[in-house]
Amino acid sequence: MSEPSTKDSGATKTPMVYICGECHNENEIRPRDPIRCRECGYRIMYKKRTKRLAVFDAR
Ligand SMILES: [Zn+2]
Repeated sequence: MSEPSTKDSGATKTPMVYICGECHNENEIRPRDPIRCRECGYRIMYKKRTKRLAVFDAR
């Protein structure tokens, strides 16, 4: 089984960025990857804020 590592077809698989709850390291976690910090191995991660920030701008 050979899996092409550099396959750039579509942007459906966008890795999410998670922040480690222990060392606050940013980890890119893909949907298939286990949620685990690569730095310390901590398994509690927080989702980083998406590009869309909640803007509470009163009109
Ligand atoms: Zn960590």
